[in-house]
Amino acid sequence: MFDSLQSRLGGVFDRLRGRGALTEADVDEALKEVRTALIEADVELGVVEDFVKRVKPKAEGEAVIRSVSPSQQVVKIVHDSLIEMLGTESTGLNLGSPPAPILMVGLQGSGKTTSTAKLGLLLQTKEKKRVLMASLDVNRPAAMEQLKVLGEQAGVATLPIIPGQTPVTIAKRALASAKVGGYDVLLLDTAGRQHIDEELMAEAAAVREATNPHETILVADSLTGQDAVNIAKSFHARMPLTGIILTRADGDARGGAALSMRAVTGAPIKFLGMGEKLEALEPFHPERVASRILD
Ligand code: GDP
Repeated sequence: MFDSLQSRLGGVFDRLRGRGALTEADVDEALKEVRTALIEADVELGVVEDFVKRVKPKAEGEAVIRSVSPSQQVVKIVHDSLIEMLGTESTGLNLGSPPAPILMVGLQGSGKTTSTAKLGLLLQTKEKKRVLMASLDVNRPAAMEQLKVLGEQAGVATLPIIPGQTPVTIAKRALASAKVGGYDVLLLDTAGRQHIDEELMAEAAAVREATNPHETILVADSLTGQDAVNIAKSFHARMPLTGIILTRADGDARGGAALSMRAVTGAPIKFLGMGEKLEALEPFHPERVASRILD
């Protein structure tokens, strides 16, 4: 991820270092190239403009130009501003008192069901939580079956399927089971659709009302770039998202969705899906991402 951005910015800063002493015009020129590199990485235009606006006065200030290592200072300012853009607060899950309901929302094909199972496995193995998963996708029996199969593969419990129940009824049954069974976390995999529509939103909102989730996580496909960001915006407008899982980050060389998501929606990316395997879910660390981009 971020391969092309990394090499572009690497080139910009190498040229800047080669100059030794810097003038305001040198920094200005470098920032223009940074701007172009971010746009080419498919970062949302408003986010790019804000970023440059924040970096420019700091990087072109006397304190930087006259310092002993001006190019290093510019890189540090860009680095810190990238972290600000990605979100500086801790991105772990806020589970609260058990059983913690976590609502998984997103469009069909985004990787929602796979991510639910991945998250269940991660919470169980890394955080030693007892996890129960339930599929609320009553429109697609195959989706319910898929979560059951993934649960078996991951060794994570799933709620027994009872055909004919509504999503809210299943969610309430899942919550009761999680309480009785002494589970720490309940992952609720809501139905996905091809497009955002009123029915999808109303259904997820009803489940949210009935279960009062501690987290509402949107699963979005990194490869769809700015579409993923717009989908997040639409969901966020209907139900406040507490975090985002960006899937298929393993195949995304540009990283535009990852870089714009937080700034556009206000919701932090919490995990990246890094492959089809159930172990391929990584916590998102803004600090590490910024360092990697400027490596
Ligand atoms: P859903 O319709 O949103 O529930 O999507 P699924 O969970 O069924 O995932 C759709 C496809 O995407 C499956 O083939 C998954 O294996 C694949 N997938 C999900 N997450 C990732 C990821 O992070 N990386 C890659 N390469 N594939 C993924």
